[in-house]
Amino acid sequence: MVMVLIFEKVCKIKKNTIPLRPKAHKSDMKRYVIDAQTVQQSDFEFELQVGMELFEAMEMTDISGADFKLTVSGHKEASNRTVIELSGEGTAVTACDRCLDDVTLEVDVEAAMTILFGDEAKAFDGEQVTLQRGDELNIAQFVYDSIMLDLPIVRVHDIEDCNPDMIARISGKME
Ligand SMILES: [Zn+2]
Repeated sequence: MVMVLIFEKVCKIKKNTIPLRPKAHKSDMKRYVIDAQTVQQSDFEFELQVGMELFEAMEMTDISGADFKLTVSGHKEASNRTVIELSGEGTAVTACDRCLDDVTLEVDVEAAMTILFGDEAKAFDGEQVTLQRGDELNIAQFVYDSIMLDLPIVRVHDIEDCNPDMIARISGKME
């Protein structure tokens, strides 16, 4: 932990000449961008593989592993309105609330957002985004929010899978 902090500090001083988080490349975020023509002209569907690049880009350090296979489908409902649906499943790794060891959570993802086309662009507000004609669409925030909302609130192992040493320590304290 201390090493990580020192490493980040050094990187900041060196103006990011060393990548802060070498696991994912910034270019991995390109797959979250849909070109303007696709968004505006027709229905579309594609598979989206989501890994740690998304959580690193969002600086979500509680998640230490992620592997999602999602389907993104767009339905043109009017000349100025398209609805995008996101569905699929995957796993996210985080610290168990009970024993603090890593726990792998299985997550079903189901979400929708509305894209409006208007004169003035407006950022994604949790439900919709407004694009100007000719704008590309970046769905990173939408995908990230959708996964985070679908994570279970209580993030724990089945009790028999929790780290027994930690459980013994906790129950020792409580007695
Ligand atoms: Zn546990």
